[in-house]
Parts: sequence; structure tokens; C-alpha cells
Amino acid sequence: MLLRNAAIDALLSNNLKAVVVALLIVLSPFVGAAETILLDTYSGEIVLGQTQIQYLEDAEDTLTIEHLRGNHKTRFSPSTQDVLNFGHTDSSIWVHFAFTDRQTLEQYQTWILHSSFPLLARFDLYVFQDNELKHTYNLGYTKDMVQRILPHRFFAQPLRINSNSHYDIYVNVKRSGGTVQVPLTLSKPTHFIYKEMTSNYVFGIFFGIMIAMAIYNLFLFFSVGSLAYFYYLIYIVASLFTYLSITGYGYLYLWGQAPAVNEYITQITTTITVISGILFFRNFVEINKYFPAANHYLNVMLSIGVGLLLVKAFTDYFLSLHISIYLAVITALAPFLTYKCWRNGSRPAGYFLIAWIALIIGVLLFVMNLLGFLPTNSFTNNAILIGCAAEMLLLSLGLADRINMERKERYAALEQQHKAVIRLKEAEDRLMHRALHTRTTGLPNRTFLRSTLDSLLLEKREPAFYLCLINLNNFHEFNKTLGHSNGDAILYLVTERIKKLCKSLDGILPIEQLETGNQWVANVEGVTFALIIKQHSTSNIQQQCNQLITGIERPFSYQGLTLNVDVTAGVALYPQHGETSENLLRNAQIALEAASGNNDNYSLYSGEIDPYNARRITLLSELRNAIENDALQLYFQPQISLETQQVAGVEVLIRWIHPEFGFIPPDEFIPIAERTGVIHPLTLWICRNAFKFKKQLQDQGYNINLSINISARNLQDPGFCQQINKIAKECNTTLNNVIMEITETAIMKDPDFALKVMSDLNKLGIRLSIDDFGTGYSSLSYLKKLPVNEIKIDRSFVMEMANNNDDQVIVHTTLTMGHNLSLDVVAEGIEDAGTMEKLRQMGCDLAQGYHIARPMPGADFLIWLNQNHYNQNGNIANKA
Ligand code: C2E
Ligand code: CA
Ligand code: CA
Repeated sequence: MLLRNAAIDALLSNNLKAVVVALLIVLSPFVGAAETILLDTYSGEIVLGQTQIQYLEDAEDTLTIEHLRGNHKTRFSPSTQDVLNFGHTDSSIWVHFAFTDRQTLEQYQTWILHSSFPLLARFDLYVFQDNELKHTYNLGYTKDMVQRILPHRFFAQPLRINSNSHYDIYVNVKRSGGTVQVPLTLSKPTHFIYKEMTSNYVFGIFFGIMIAMAIYNLFLFFSVGSLAYFYYLIYIVASLFTYLSITGYGYLYLWGQAPAVNEYITQITTTITVISGILFFRNFVEINKYFPAANHYLNVMLSIGVGLLLVKAFTDYFLSLHISIYLAVITALAPFLTYKCWRNGSRPAGYFLIAWIALIIGVLLFVMNLLGFLPTNSFTNNAILIGCAAEMLLLSLGLADRINMERKERYAALEQQHKAVIRLKEAEDRLMHRALHTRTTGLPNRTFLRSTLDSLLLEKREPAFYLCLINLNNFHEFNKTLGHSNGDAILYLVTERIKKLCKSLDGILPIEQLETGNQWVANVEGVTFALIIKQHSTSNIQQQCNQLITGIERPFSYQGLTLNVDVTAGVALYPQHGETSENLLRNAQIALEAASGNNDNYSLYSGEIDPYNARRITLLSELRNAIENDALQLYFQPQISLETQQVAGVEVLIRWIHPEFGFIPPDEFIPIAERTGVIHPLTLWICRNAFKFKKQLQDQGYNINLSINISARNLQDPGFCQQINKIAKECNTTLNNVIMEITETAIMKDPDFALKVMSDLNKLGIRLSIDDFGTGYSSLSYLKKLPVNEIKIDRSFVMEMANNNDDQVIVHTTLTMGHNLSLDVVAEGIEDAGTMEKLRQMGCDLAQGYHIARPMPGADFLIWLNQNHYNQNGNIANKA
């Protein structure tokens, strides 16, 4: 019973206990006046039950023992319960019982009277022997522990009982606020000691588990850093102190010298237990995620808890009733909240639920035993302790599981991130590779070759070398007669042969250096290859080239056919034939063209064979005149929105019809203009005429974008922005709706300055577009820094999309990356309906190409605009 009462106190909170006791009362029959107890030598203990005790409640606390001895019979009531429980009361309680020892063999025996409810401030004992007051003992905890005869965690008093005497015992107890119980037992000393040893043993284990749990969570808190462990640590420590105080162990071992601590500690630690319990619960089951609505309620409960703590800390007001109610509400709601969180997917809530159920089962077993439904044994006696220890262990398990889950999640997230980075890197690498290699042969392309040449020139590694171009002259015949796929296969075979032959050439320099081996040959375009050779004499180089030509021209068989390729070679020498990569390439090309007229299919560059020289000089001077005389023309090519099928803009393209040479492609005269600086007046001329056209469009009610191409050289001109602004004013138009197209290579020439001019243009309201995206060394990370609004996927990718999966992938990645950077994406070079539909499905914003319309003069464009518009099906339809 000793142990049991302790367990009741420890684990059924006061209010819960009241429920248990009330049940017991209902179930026990009412018995009348108290009977005198007969002590014998055989029983080890006598638990005083309802038939043996009487009690009296003195609300004013005015009665003394003398008053009671006068007429107690009329005032005492018989007990209706085995364990006297008065609930929350301030009253002073008197308990009376009587016994006699009919043992005649011994003169006297020692019995220990004890009560297992240690939280009483007053516990006064009056012993009457044969109606005469023999002893008075004051045991309440307001008295120092050392004053007791038996220092024990409960109230325990040894009594010397004489044979054949009648004893009347009066117990007077009082507690200021809080529940009052007086469970009384008479025990033989040996029995008493034996029971106490057992309970010390059981509680020792229990407290041991709690302390171990606390240390474990302290370690976890320091190593993992999650607050859940900290709250749980506080929860365990606070519960530990609550148990220490309720079981009397705290008073016995820790604060016996300071009795007042007892009352405080229970109320404070109970409240802290609840507060830390709520904090732990909230963090552990992740209320925020799984049941956010409950958070508000928990906050209210937390504030109440903190309020109670503050009141307790600053006043000596007894709050145990409030705390009990507080505890009861939380206890009742916790399973519900936990269940909700568990249903909403919180894994820790599952552990919490199981832990809670373990505790509840412990309580139920205990109560069933109290009610007599289960036999009394050490298991049912300690069911609550076992339930509680199981709860703590399960929660710790839950916490450990949580670390594990969190680690897994973090790991998975990291892996995901890592994969995304790799994917992006791969996409960029693919884009870069595609930009720098030709698709058909996989060899470095013209851009790559130029950069190799540039670095060779920059580092001045070689004082002299030859750039050699090799062309497969009759290759278009294979394509024509055998079809493109066979043409590609044959090209592959020839390429392999060229690679093999070049590898062993004396003095050859690598074009691309790879971990897997060097690339010695570039594929500058179509069926033209390039190599760089270090040789001292021109005759040597000629000999080498001839060998190479013979080697490549050796007939080879393809699907049973014997094929002959016709090869020419053109060579330019550095530095004599050009000091820049561009000039070297151009002059090697001129030599190559000259070689096809030669007998030996080989030619070295010289000024005499350069037919462009004269034409270039003529073009240059005539271009100046053409600008001054307005002899140039602007053509316009529409862009449509793939979403709305409406015309969204127009690209301005320059045209020069020369009186003598006829149509001169812009690809030919723009580079000349750029090299000589004529590009400045040219671009201004283009802008002026484009703005005039814009005004005309506006006046007709068309509000569409105007895209103008500008050159690298324009970006190096500090006055550019101002001039553009001035021209716009003169033309009576604004710069809204004006887009300027710049190639990546143009920006990369002088990135810092380009960035400045671009920002200035941007400030004027001009939007910027990256032209020919995918053909340069575009670094996306750099693009992010530029004030760019749009990218135009180079037409080479778009034109090949239908036949080439690689290009499709590149278009797709470019679209995704562009949209990630919030850029509009334009596809140019759309030549068929299929490609346009595919691009629309991919989410491309704008489309331009021959399929929609070819570039046309302004007047024609206006007619086109008036006559045609895009209907829902994406077909050109007449307005009329
Ligand atoms: P770009 O800026 O990439 O211009 C687009 C070129 O693609 C134009 O060639 C256009 O006629 C052509 N094109 C449009 N749709 C298709 C199609 O569906 N299929 C094919 N195969 N081609 C299509 P264009 O007019 O010969 O211009 C060539 C380059 O000359 C331009 O390339 C641009 O770099 C330069 N350029 C043209 N006009 C100007 C100008 O006013 N100023 C400057 N600085 N450069 C210009
Ligand atoms: Ca363009
Ligand atoms: Ca372009």
C-alpha cells in the first residue's frame, strides 16, 4: 500500500486521482460507525479502512484536542472511503481511530503508524492510552526532518503498544490549498522496512531511467542542436522533480532542511512539466506543418502556464487547483491533437500516440487493480511506473527516429541539388560543345579554330605557322545522288581518314586539347577542314599538302560502291598573310578558292590572287556614298507571338543593291563597315530610317516592337546612347517598343564597357536582345548580370530542329534556361509549320522566319500587315 499510494500520487495527477477515488467510493458499500481494531502478532500490516476510521472537517481550524475529547462522538463522521481523500481544501481535518492489543504473552509491541501522502504542512498525532493523553507528535513538513524520530519520506511514527490497553489515536492534518489525503496504515517494523526497501528499489530504477534519459537528451541536444531535445530534457527533469516531491524522496534526501520548498516545488515543477511538454510536443509532432490550427490553442495554453509560473514565483498564493485544471485540460486534449497530426502524416506523432497509450494502459491496469478486477502483484502495483518509463523510452526512440529521418531528408535534398547542378552543367556543356563543334563531324568548328588561333597569336608561342584549309570539292554530288543520310555517313568516313592522316603530319599543332586525346583538325564549314602546321619552308608545306591530298583522294568503298573524292588545299602563312585569325582564315579561304583552278589542287595565298581586295576597297568607299545618298534600303521581317498568333514585332534588316554588283549580302558589307568604322554612320542611318518607319506604323495604329541589329563597334562608342535619343526625338517617336539585337561575341569583346552602354540604353527604355544565341561562348552566369530582356535562338538550331534531335534538346534547354532568367525567347529561321507548332508546344514566346514571311520593303510590310493576320490556327488568313 505504501508503494501503491506513492505511485498514485506520483502518477495520477491530483485530479485524476480524485476521479479514481470517486469511482471507488461509488463501488464500496456504506458501513456505519468505526470499530475498534484488534492488533495481533500475526499480521505484518493493517491498512486502515472505512470501517475503522472516523473524520471531522474543521473549516475554521479552531478545534483543539480538548474540544474533541469532550463530545467527539456526535461530531465525527464515519469514513465512506478506504483512503481518506478530501480533494482541494483549506480545512483542518481530524481523523480518529481506536485499537487494542489483546496479546497477553508479550508486555508490549512496537507498531509503526504511517501515512503515505507526504504533502501535508501539519501532521499532528495524539495518542490516548485508556482515555489518557500519553503522547503528542508533530510531524508535518513545516517541521524540520531531524525532529522526527523516524526520518522517512512519509509521516511515520513508531508507537509502543501495551497489551490489554485501549488506544485512541487522533490525527490532525492541514495543508494550505491543494488536495488533502490521509491514507493510514499500521505496520510491524520488519514489514515496514521490507516494504520500504522494495519501493526504494523500484523508484531507484525509475529515477535512474529518467536521469539516463535526461543525459541522453542533453547529448543529443548538443550534437544535433534541435530544440526538441532541449524541451524534452526540461520535460524529463521537471517531471523528475515533480515525482521526487510527490513521493517524498525530495524532502527526505534533498530539501529536508528547508520544509517550505516542498509546497513550492510541486506546483512549480508540475507547471514547468506541462509547459516544456507542450513545447516539446509542438516541435516534435510538427504542429505547424500537420495541424497549424492547433498552434493558436497551444499558444494560449503556454501563456496560461507562464502566467501561473509568474504568479507562483511572486506570490505565495496556492495555485494547486488551477494547476490541476490546467493539467487536466492538456492531458485530455493531447491525444486528440496527436491523433490529428498522425492522421495528417506526422511520423513522430505516431510515436507520441504509442507512448501516450503506454502511459494510459499503465494507469488503466493500476485502476483495474484498485477496483479489484485484476490481482495485486508487483506488475499491477507498478503498472503506472512501467507505463511512464515506457512512455519516456518510446519518446526517446521517436526522437532518435526523427534524427534519422531528418538526416535522410537532408541527404536526399543535397543529392537532389547536386543532381540539378550536374544537369545544368551538362546542359551548359552540351550547349557549349554544340556552339564550338560541327554537328556532322563532331570536330571543332570555325569559332573554336578562331579562338585557338587567337590564343596562339596572343601568346606568341609560334613565330610562324601555316593555316591550311582542305575542301572536298565534289561532295555535294554524293549528297545529290545518294541522299543526305548517306552523304553524312560518307562524310564521317572521310573525316576519320583525314583525322588519321593529319595526326602523323610533321609539325602539326593541336586545335583542341582533350583528356582523351587531341583534335588536330577543325571543320570550319560544310566540307572544309582546317589544320595548323609549323613548318620552316614553303616547299615543305606544299609537299605535305600534296601528300595529304593524295592520301584523302585514295578511292574508298562505301556499301559496295567505289568513291573518289576530289580535294583542294589553300594555305596562308602567319604573319606574312595576316596577323589576325580573321585575316588568316579569310586569306586561306581565298587561296582555297584559287586552288580549285590549279592543276595541282594546291595554292598559297598572295595579294595577286585575292579578288576581294579590289572589290572590298570599292565597296568601302561606295558604302559611305550610299549612306550619304540614302541609296540603302531597309527590309522588315515580322515576328509573331506564338501564344496569341498576333504580330508582335518586326526585325529591321539592311539591304544594299549595288548599281554594278547587284545585291550585296549584309554578311559581306557589315564586316567591312565594322572594320573601317563606317558602321557608326551606318547604324545611325539605319536607326533614323527605322524610327521614321516606326512613326508611320504608329500613325496607322500599329503598336508593335521594332528590333534593330547593332554591332560590337556601336557598343564601344561612348556617344551612342545620346545620338540614338536625339534621333528618336527628331523622328518624333519614343524609344519604347525599340529592341536592340546584339550578338554574344559583340558583348564579350569588351564586357565591362558593353555592360555600361547596355545599361544606358536600357535606361532610355530600349530593350536588349541577345542575337544568335548558342553560337558564341555564352556563359549563362554572365548573361544574368546583363540588362537583357530577350534571347534569340540562332537560326541554325531552329532550321535543323525537325531533323536533329540534338538541336531540339538544345532549343528546349535554351527555352527553359531563358524562362528561368525571366527572358522572352525568340526563335528565328522557322521555315515550316511543323517547327513552328513544335516551338509553340515548347513554350517559345516569339517566332520569326520565312514560314511566316520573308524580309520585305516597308511599303510591302504595311500591305502585309493590313492584309494578313494570324488566326487561331496559326495560318495566315486574309482579313477580308
Ligand atoms: P541576323 O541578325 O541573325 O538576321 C537574321 C537573318 O536571318 C536575316 O538575314 C534574315 O533574312 C534571315 N532569315 C530570317 N528568317 C529566315 C529563315 O526562315 N530561313 C533562313 N535561312 N534565313 C532567315 P540577312 O538579312 O541576310 O542578315 C544577315 C545578318 O546580317 C544578320 O543576321 C545580321 O547579323 C546582319 N545584319 C542585317 N541587317 C543588319 C543591320 O541593319 N545592322 C547590323 N549591324 N547588322 C545587320
Ligand atoms: Ca538579328
Ligand atoms: Ca540571328
